[in-house]
Amino acid sequence: MNVFSHPEFDNHEHLSFFCDPETGLKAIVAIHNTSRGPALGGCRMFPYATDEEALRDVLRLSRGMTYKSALANLDLGGGKSVIIGDPRKDKTEALMEAMGRHLESLGGRYIAAEDSGTSVPDLKVMGRHTRHVAGIADRTGFDGNPSNGDPSPATAYGTFIGLQAAVKHKLDRSDLRGLKVAIQGIGNVGFRLARHLKEAGAELWVYDIHEDNMQRAVDQLGARPASAEDILFLPVDVVAPCAMGAVLNDDSIPQLRAPIVAGAANNLLARPEHDVMLRDRGILYAPDFAINAGGIIDVFYERTGATPGTVRAHVDTIGDTLTEIFNRSSRSGRPTGAIANELAEERFHKHTAGAGLAPERLACTG
Ligand code: NAD
Repeated sequence: MNVFSHPEFDNHEHLSFFCDPETGLKAIVAIHNTSRGPALGGCRMFPYATDEEALRDVLRLSRGMTYKSALANLDLGGGKSVIIGDPRKDKTEALMEAMGRHLESLGGRYIAAEDSGTSVPDLKVMGRHTRHVAGIADRTGFDGNPSNGDPSPATAYGTFIGLQAAVKHKLDRSDLRGLKVAIQGIGNVGFRLARHLKEAGAELWVYDIHEDNMQRAVDQLGARPASAEDILFLPVDVVAPCAMGAVLNDDSIPQLRAPIVAGAANNLLARPEHDVMLRDRGILYAPDFAINAGGIIDVFYERTGATPGTVRAHVDTIGDTLTEIFNRSSRSGRPTGAIANELAEERFHKHTAGAGLAPERLACTG
């Protein structure tokens, strides 16, 4: 397994491989860049088939966090961690405690938050041994409701704001009444996004591999159930993938019938060139790391203790960022994903230059 010459290595500052035979913990922490601040990113638990698969995932996700935080104008660096194991079978308190001890040994250069396979209680268990966990504080959320630290409500709200910006740009409408939206994945983010859309008067189609998640949206929001095969290819106004990455690929893009793709899932493009394919088909793609930044914004402010109004105002800027990306794309003819990378780098360099840091530390390789 290559590390320094790995295709996804991209000048990572730091990689740690943790092993704790007593608890079965095998984990990798990747710190891509800390020029803007400590590297904050989720801790994912997944039954990776190989160590190589885990390494590739953590490197890609970690770099993505540098770009996401820079684009969202947050004083945070980019990092991520993965625990190799099945969260349904292998997760124990002892294992999470061992992870907490390892995080502590990094001295705060990396701060872990929730990700797929980990939840608020897991982060709290890690927090018995380290201060360097986030997304765990009971407080008043950005929307005035009680929050337990879970970033999903802010992610869903930010995705809704970004989806509105995409609809305004592509369809020139501000009123979402009657807008047709298909949502793939009705989990923590997808369900809340569906609720925001329902409140705005949109018509919804939903699909989730877990029947009960889909049924909840049907029963509570009047959504129409769709199938695994159809959900991305319905003749709707917006497709919102909120389940997993790489769903925009060689097979799916030619079949899309919606003029807009705007969803919360990370790494939606299977490969960078799919950005161009979407542009060539006239489909407006809201870059994932721009539209789903609500969660990292929320977690950032948990640590600074800002008011709910401050958090909400910052999440609202996702709409402005996307509008800037869409306008630059329209003017230049370049695809939105490339523009989002470029804007993230501009914001990153503006900050690091202001702080007297070497501006050449970040360059888009994706
Ligand atoms: P979640 O696990 O709560 O929900 C995901 C849902 O997708 C689940 O209901 C699951 O059953 C469903 N699903 C899985 N595979 C599917 C498939 N093939 N087809 C249809 N449904 C499928 O996760 P979440 O927190 O809602 O996150 C959703 C996505 O958004 C993930 O890609 C995540 O990385 C991304 N994201 C989440 C946050 C956050 O704050 N939670 C922040 C940024 C990005």
